[in-house]
Amino acid sequence: MSMNRAPKLPQGFVSDPDDHRIQEQSDSCHEAARRRFLRLAGAGALMSLMAKVGSELSFPESVFAQSTLTPDAALADLMAGNERFVTRRITSDAQDLAILKQNNAEKQEPFAAVLSCADSRVPVELVFDQTIGHIFVTRVAGNVATSEIIASLEYGVAVLGTKVILVMGHAGCGAVKATIQGAEVPGQISALYPHIQPAVDQAGNNLEAATKANAKIQAALLGESSTVVKGLVKEGKLKVAAAYYDIATGNVMLLN
Ligand SMILES: [Zn+2]
Repeated sequence: MSMNRAPKLPQGFVSDPDDHRIQEQSDSCHEAARRRFLRLAGAGALMSLMAKVGSELSFPESVFAQSTLTPDAALADLMAGNERFVTRRITSDAQDLAILKQNNAEKQEPFAAVLSCADSRVPVELVFDQTIGHIFVTRVAGNVATSEIIASLEYGVAVLGTKVILVMGHAGCGAVKATIQGAEVPGQISALYPHIQPAVDQAGNNLEAATKANAKIQAALLGESSTVVKGLVKEGKLKVAAAYYDIATGNVMLLN
């Protein structure tokens, strides 16, 4: 249960805010994680090698030491959180206090990653009744899988060990609506259009249908364009799913 997933203190860790060894340990943890990520995702030669080995790619076990959930269990936990949100039985507000009390900010153990729209009506942690350190969230208008978003999610799965990536579109999405209309817009807003247009081409001008198609297309794109994601999915260590958030009811519907 989520109540039991408050970040745990590392072995031998003393929760003393004045103990500078904590910060040193934290720094070294982060540095080690950063180096692992650079080793995994790093230089061109390595990336070429990763592309060649493709689905046979594997990572050191230590990378996946944080969350022990299976991908299916991680997705089920997310959906259970949404059920609590919909039925107004939220528990994450109580967890916040516990985490602050433990002064446990030096480490993150997110079990899931979510790619959602930037829309203010989609507060991701709240929608899934999750609190600090539980979900790794990337947000961009239209929840599109750009290179920067993919890079962020690769960090989430390869270094932090998230077990599921949920790509979530939502009702009344302005980015999808604007793409359907194709109207002139100020600044660089139209830069989103090419990412969303394939969904409009596929589903037509119905906003809900195009938004659902877009979530599925972006999820598929993640699996196709990221060797990191693709390899882990094939190994059964990661699941990528698409979903649609109904703003009026608060309900998240899985699409695949
Ligand atoms: Zn939106």
